[in-house]
Amino acid sequence: MTMEHAKNKTRTEKELGFLTRSVHVGNGIDKETGAIRRPITMANSYALPYDPSDLNWSSAAGNVYTRNGGSNQQYLQEKLSSLEAGEDCVALASGVAALSGVFFAFLKSGDHAVVSDSSYIAAYRLLHELLPGKYNIQSTLADSSKPEAVKAAIRPNTKLIHIETPSNPTLKISDIRAIAEIAHEAGALLSVDNTFASPYNQRPLSLGADLCVESLTKYINGHGDAMGGAVIGAKELIDKIRAEAMVNLGGTISPFNAWLIMRGAVSLPIRMRQHNQSALAVAKFLKGHPAVRFAAYPGLERHSGHAVAKKQMENGFGGVMAFGLRADHDAHNRFVSRLKVITSAVSLGHDESLIVFLGEKDERQYLYPEEFHGGFFRLSVGLEDTEDIIEDIRQALEE
Ligand SMILES: *Cc1c(COP(=O)(O)O)cnc(C)c1O
Repeated sequence: MTMEHAKNKTRTEKELGFLTRSVHVGNGIDKETGAIRRPITMANSYALPYDPSDLNWSSAAGNVYTRNGGSNQQYLQEKLSSLEAGEDCVALASGVAALSGVFFAFLKSGDHAVVSDSSYIAAYRLLHELLPGKYNIQSTLADSSKPEAVKAAIRPNTKLIHIETPSNPTLKISDIRAIAEIAHEAGALLSVDNTFASPYNQRPLSLGADLCVESLTKYINGHGDAMGGAVIGAKELIDKIRAEAMVNLGGTISPFNAWLIMRGAVSLPIRMRQHNQSALAVAKFLKGHPAVRFAAYPGLERHSGHAVAKKQMENGFGGVMAFGLRADHDAHNRFVSRLKVITSAVSLGHDESLIVFLGEKDERQYLYPEEFHGGFFRLSVGLEDTEDIIEDIRQALEE
């Protein structure tokens, strides 16, 4: 895509498909060298105008200082806005910087938030413990798989509903469209953490959400070698996050990480196809194995959220699932120690398959469905051959 195309962004984005936009948007010809890839700009400062005395040091408009924004961040933001079907984007240092940016920008002392009872641990910690304790921001945990439970949790001062679907770590599915209606009736914003689905499978903004949060560390980068986060939404909302949270909390993405994630994001749709396909096969295998106590994956017809997931996840159900064994605590660890292809590590959405054991002492167990109580695994199915992943699990289960 030439610079001419880049200028015509809105036109081309409407006309071009997801794969084409994954490849081209945000890239362009480097003016200085003619290179057909934009370079990494590892500078923390940019040249000042003749009279810099009128500059607003907290402004994120224009390149001044990299904490206020830089060129690699900008290119990545262009790509992510396009892929998430949003007007604007702010890319930050991690998924948690994106979450805290949303909470900092849109909640103040005396406000109330409704948060899904199944969400990333930092969202839970921030909304359920830290913000109430430190800043008098109240929150209610609600079972977001039931829109009526979200509705019942609304108070006159509710300013934000935050959900995650599919959720980490229980794979709970929440109906984005139904909850967006509830939020807007109440005059609140809906933010949706889309990390497990990625924009290839699901676009919350198209389903009525106001803000879409991504941990770029996971599928969008996809290679397990960089950290980043992003919030996508209307320009007015993103400007507020940029001006208040990015510049003053300081969670700006580094140029190098932005560049790595830009490179990883090119193959997002192709990787997601494989993740979707392999994960469904692995989940079916687990479901049918006598040693497996339960397997939770929204692509399985008997998953409680399958119908809603099918409606809002266009291309597949992602690569992450949870399962537990009909065995005691230590047998779960022995199972992991026998895996040869799948790696025991946190994170997800990498090229390699990753597994993590969440034991019975997990502090949020009280919020998990019954079957999760005996301890369980979160498995992120990677890009290895499907048969190799299944065979690895099969041989480790043979005990
Ligand atoms: C990992 C993750 C985050 C946090 O992202 P970081 O990049 O690790 O800060 C947020 N939400 C979900 C659903 C995640 O899986």
